[in-house]
Amino acid sequence: MTWKSLPAWWRGRIPRYRLVGARCKQCGRTHYPPSQACPYCGSTELEPVALPRMGRLLSYTVINYPPGDSRLEAPVILGLVELDGVKIIAELTDVLPEELPNIETVEAVVRRVEEQGEAGVIGYAIKFRPALKGAKE
Ligand SMILES: [Zn+2]
Repeated sequence: MTWKSLPAWWRGRIPRYRLVGARCKQCGRTHYPPSQACPYCGSTELEPVALPRMGRLLSYTVINYPPGDSRLEAPVILGLVELDGVKIIAELTDVLPEELPNIETVEAVVRRVEEQGEAGVIGYAIKFRPALKGAKE
């Protein structure tokens, strides 16, 4: 693999980290990340549903002192993001705390994270960054 092919390789990886939530067949509500049972009614009849990558930033909080043993580096910014009616809490990236009041639309991106554990495995996680003006799903 050459450096020139790196972007294409990276784009090809992203579908593997799509935002997939779970829709409950009983009450019809969708949650993310998917769990074994519906958090609203307890039903285990769930089906996967793809969520849009672009969402609305409803609220946020800035954590200046995350737990010392976590992988997180301060400041950690958590956002309440609405994706097509589904509200999720996710880490925000590529944004400074002082810029947050101006952010309305965010988009999902895949970011490398250091996972905890003896194996020292490097993993990837979905975070949200401010969407470019005029960007569409
Ligand atoms: Zn349900």
